[in-house]
Amino acid sequence: MKKLSCCIAVCCLLLAPLARAKADPEVINSIRDQGFNHSQVMQTLQHLTDQIGPRLTNSPQMREASRWTLERLQSWGLSNAHLEPFAFGRGWSFEKASIDLLAPRKTSLQAIPLAWTPGTAGVLESDVVYLDAVKEAELQKYRGKLKNKVVMLNEPLDVEEPKRELSKRYTATELAEMKNFNLKARASEADAPQDSIAERQKTQRFSLAREEFLKTEQVSGALFRSSWDGGLIRVMGQNHRVGKTFPVPALMLSVEQYNLLARLLEGGVTPRISFNVVARFHDEDVNTHNTLAEITGTGANPEVVMLGAHLDSWHGATGGVDNAAGVAITMEAIRILKAIKLEPRRTIRLGLWSSEEQGLNGSSAYVEQHFATRPKPNDPMERDLSPWLWSSPGWPITKLKDHDLLSAYFNVDNGSGRIRGISTQGNAAARTLFAEWFGQVADLSDGTITNNASFSTDHVSFDRVGLPGFQFIQDPLDYGTRLHHTHVDSFDHAIAEDMKQAAVVLATLVYNAAIADARLPRKPLPVEPTMAEKELEKQKAEKRTRSRDRKALGDLSDAAK
Ligand SMILES: [Zn+2]
Repeated sequence: MKKLSCCIAVCCLLLAPLARAKADPEVINSIRDQGFNHSQVMQTLQHLTDQIGPRLTNSPQMREASRWTLERLQSWGLSNAHLEPFAFGRGWSFEKASIDLLAPRKTSLQAIPLAWTPGTAGVLESDVVYLDAVKEAELQKYRGKLKNKVVMLNEPLDVEEPKRELSKRYTATELAEMKNFNLKARASEADAPQDSIAERQKTQRFSLAREEFLKTEQVSGALFRSSWDGGLIRVMGQNHRVGKTFPVPALMLSVEQYNLLARLLEGGVTPRISFNVVARFHDEDVNTHNTLAEITGTGANPEVVMLGAHLDSWHGATGGVDNAAGVAITMEAIRILKAIKLEPRRTIRLGLWSSEEQGLNGSSAYVEQHFATRPKPNDPMERDLSPWLWSSPGWPITKLKDHDLLSAYFNVDNGSGRIRGISTQGNAAARTLFAEWFGQVADLSDGTITNNASFSTDHVSFDRVGLPGFQFIQDPLDYGTRLHHTHVDSFDHAIAEDMKQAAVVLATLVYNAAIADARLPRKPLPVEPTMAEKELEKQKAEKRTRSRDRKALGDLSDAAK
């Protein structure tokens, strides 16, 4: 008898590593029941947008959002819920902004101040001047001519007939194209189309010189033009300088109203405006916070599966789909898993990041504090800029002890549309697992898996240090036509059925990752490119800039015809 049980034990030991941890079909059903029949996703979204409002990093409203999300996650019974601070810089908020045209005729205009720009201390009246300068030398012709004037800093924009459909869902053909993306080399940020670092730094240097000039010339204010037409005010900060301030009150106008002022000037009529901005800086605390909470895994020192979204937003609207939607979806996914009393082998941890909008700062800080560090630029001027303006990402990568514990990070920041699939971020080996997991929700999602990488949001902070970070393929809806950083990014544009679907699909994937036999496969740890590789990269970037400039020249000559 003793011999037999001994033999069984040995057999079990031998068989154990071969057994696959399969998803429990009843758990899959419970996730759906909780997500579709007991959903709280829209309540979460509504509180964040309607009650709290815009969540600009380190504003009083962002602080309230950190506090509220923490309280909410605790109320759902999640473990280890807490806030993790990191240094950001001063906060800013505004209460009101008004602008009126006084001459050549009277009418009221609409504008929103740029973040971290000062208020006016009362109503100001000024003539408007167009500042036609793209190089430092060209500023000199305005020397002594701008005092108490309001300067227009962008070129007017020709309004074109709209070509894109207003709201979009991916077609089967588009999804097939994504699926067939051929991964020839490791996807990296360098593959994302962008100006060369040198080009971006040049623009940045001019911008700083112009700020200095406006300050010494004592202009009364600055006007910027929204980048999208149709009355949309697309407003962010200025110069991507974290926590630094623009020297004079600055307002973002819609394309149409900005063009009006420009046309008047061009016709020889000087517009006169009055404007009033009530804005405040908050220097009480330079720290901002990430919100963390988890379902702790079983066993000693469990591995971790993370999901997350950025809690901060710009200030023009209430950050409904960028990214209260992602916050509501990820909070809902972990709520679902807690509500069905899941006891996963791995810890399931939610991270709600601050300061994504100024350069993925919250997720980078979290990665730095827990997973891996890399050197920052030596030049203090460069360190002040958003990380995408740094001349090097910093080498080498130094792994911290938790680096080995993280299985995967799932990010939601592509609006409020339903999940149609996922990007492996160039981690081709993850494809088989994703295909199996998406199979459990085949009736809810196409489960398109692309090896094409996506950039510009928080999963990149993980990917950069060799950790599996993923972003979903979501239907764009009107994210890219009306909402992204505009003054209409509100609760209204999120569709409840899409939000519920996204939470259920996400919860299903996170569940699978949390019970799988092994950590998700990883890509090789990034290493510093060789001189030859850097040179090739530089040439590619310069080529992109040249072809863009050539295209711009072509556009000009077309216009001259
Ligand atoms: Zn954004």
